[in-house]
Amino acid sequence: MHPDVLARPTTVTFPTGALRADARVLAVQGDVVVTDATPFHPVDHTWPDQPGDSGTIVVGADEVAVAEAVMAAISDDGAFAVGTDIPVKRGAEGWTWLVAHRMDGEIPASVVAGSTAALEVDADRRAGLSRGHTACHLASLALDLALADLWRKDPGPDALGNPDFEGRANQTSFIHADGAVDEYRLGKSLRKAGFDTETFAASMAEREAAINGTLASWVSSGAPSRVVVDGPTIIDMRRWECELPEGTASIPCGGTHASSLAEFASITVSLDLSDPQLLVMTTTAVPA
Ligand SMILES: [Zn+2]
Repeated sequence: MHPDVLARPTTVTFPTGALRADARVLAVQGDVVVTDATPFHPVDHTWPDQPGDSGTIVVGADEVAVAEAVMAAISDDGAFAVGTDIPVKRGAEGWTWLVAHRMDGEIPASVVAGSTAALEVDADRRAGLSRGHTACHLASLALDLALADLWRKDPGPDALGNPDFEGRANQTSFIHADGAVDEYRLGKSLRKAGFDTETFAASMAEREAAINGTLASWVSSGAPSRVVVDGPTIIDMRRWECELPEGTASIPCGGTHASSLAEFASITVSLDLSDPQLLVMTTTAVPA
């Protein structure tokens, strides 16, 4: 391991939409390679909503496939952990935070600490995941708006000032290329918080149509969408911002995003309440 592995968290360039970077290899541990900088977006180890990027790492004449970028961390006393094996939350004190590239196949002898590597992300897969992530946030905001009249108590505002159903009920979110699946818990605690579950269940088809109407108008606005960052490393705060006709939505988010809603031909959702305690929202994006 290169001593610089402890010097600072990995510099990341994916928030600007970067797909390529030259970097220095700092560590090769098992099947992962850590570099000082990377364009690869890693899956988060505690909230794994967006899968990590895949692509390639080239050192000299050797090219190796990156199966998925993941988080890694090394403690001040030298304990190295990757992905879900990391025992602390991202950004915890006493750890240096890194992006690790999980390699597909044998790592050539040329890929060692100190070597210079050319990193390249699979552009098509990144673009699909970025559209999927942007569509996921837009669908959640449209869902909050479509359910706004069902609250008897104020649950607090979402990023557009509507009652925050997403923040209260979202349990899991899984993003894939050009889409996402979100699950919302409609249990006793949501009812206690003032949400009218019965009226929702009886009017779900109209709610779904309302969400799809909102999404169609947002897509036709072609609104700018971007990732804003507080700094250059993997642990600096990142947010997604979108200048919607109703106002600019700004949401803490570690993922990658479309640069404009003009990248979409359409975004639609379908709602499923087969289990009355669990609302499943499936979001489908069609690229322009
Ligand atoms: Zn997000």
